[in-house]
Amino acid sequence: MRISFFGAAREVTGSCYFVETSGTRILVDCGAFQGSAFVEARNFQPFGFDPKTIDAVFITHAHLDHVGRLPKLIKDGFKGKIYLTPPTADLTKIVLEDAFHIMRDEHRRQYRPMLYESQDIQDTLTRFKALDYDRVMKLGNLSINLEDAGHIFGSAFIRISEQGNGTAVFSGDVGNQHVPILRETVALPETDVLITESTYGNRVHEDESTRETKLRDMVIKTIRQKGALVIPAFAIERTQQLLYELHDLMEKKFIPSVPVYLDSPMAIQTADVIERYPQYYDEDATAHVLKGENFMDFSSLKLCRTRDESKLINEAPKPKIIIAGAGMMNGGRIQHHLLRYLGDPASTVLIIGYQAKHTLGHQLYEGKKMVEVLGERINVKATILSIGAYSAHADQTKLVNWVLNATHKPSHIYCTHGEEGAAIALATRMTQKTNIPADVPRFGDTITL
Ligand SMILES: [Zn+2]
Repeated sequence: MRISFFGAAREVTGSCYFVETSGTRILVDCGAFQGSAFVEARNFQPFGFDPKTIDAVFITHAHLDHVGRLPKLIKDGFKGKIYLTPPTADLTKIVLEDAFHIMRDEHRRQYRPMLYESQDIQDTLTRFKALDYDRVMKLGNLSINLEDAGHIFGSAFIRISEQGNGTAVFSGDVGNQHVPILRETVALPETDVLITESTYGNRVHEDESTRETKLRDMVIKTIRQKGALVIPAFAIERTQQLLYELHDLMEKKFIPSVPVYLDSPMAIQTADVIERYPQYYDEDATAHVLKGENFMDFSSLKLCRTRDESKLINEAPKPKIIIAGAGMMNGGRIQHHLLRYLGDPASTVLIIGYQAKHTLGHQLYEGKKMVEVLGERINVKATILSIGAYSAHADQTKLVNWVLNATHKPSHIYCTHGEEGAAIALATRMTQKTNIPADVPRFGDTITL
């Protein structure tokens, strides 16, 4: 088995692994490069392989950096099926359609080129084939199965085994611990090679038990100051978990009931998908469902689907909580709220997810005091806070423990899907702790099992 790295090598986005054996060629993920215009220009470059010769694609989860180039793959001649869990199929549809709207807007306003057309998305959706956790799919001399990665709803890591010739596990993105609704990451199965993400490969999240306390304190402080708590949301990850916790805190009267505006049509659609698949919930969420409760439905929660509904948030008196996309603040409705509240000392911006370099979110996270939003320069007076425990990704400790706790440990580890420093830090730590050699591949590198 040969594995080539055609994305997420010494960077976070563009996940795409080309796996080749005698007679079978597959891809694991086909994600978009995201970030600066330079990075995004790379989406237009040809793939490092001929899409016409690929037999099948296996998808770990619905984030754009794992599925974003699927329509381009189809446009460039891919004829096979795309295997993914049923929730991932539904979420990928939402993610691709959203990306298309953004691309079309930029095309109309800034004459930026189109990576693919709407029809290519429709064609992509017709290739989806459900592959649930724990089912083994045979393809040529390969056996492939998906296991719950606990990263976002429906997310998987993928194990590929070639008869008599080695096994590789692709971690996809590995989830954080004790996340509401999601189940924990399944134990690492027996494998020769592990290709693991390293987004937080150089960091350790604060204890998740303090997460709820921090959220509670922050809400109470903002309410006292009569400010707005602005939370940039990742539509298909933390938002639903955050609502789950806000609902819980209000129900237990730990925080006063203030209006919570969910200003993200994509997050609302995602909530609908989550509601459709209760069989994927963890125990706690299942217990709520069995009691007939809908944790996405509480009296203070206002869903803003249309632009007009979004504009009405401005008129609503403070204190209030606003959750809006995009998560890295480089576009979307959040920018209008930031324009309004970044200069307000009574307000707070809560960062709950990874902020890639060159994004507005990264500038705020780094403590920059003067930023540009929608063409206006703003002096940042609002409090900027981040809670790492809300991250959808495992930290260094969890990734290392995932390997340490495996019954049969891999003989080699490759760290991908992280900025270079994070990937190298994880590789170093892995070898220190597990005695397993670990490398950080570069774009285009190939390994042979
Ligand atoms: Zn992800």
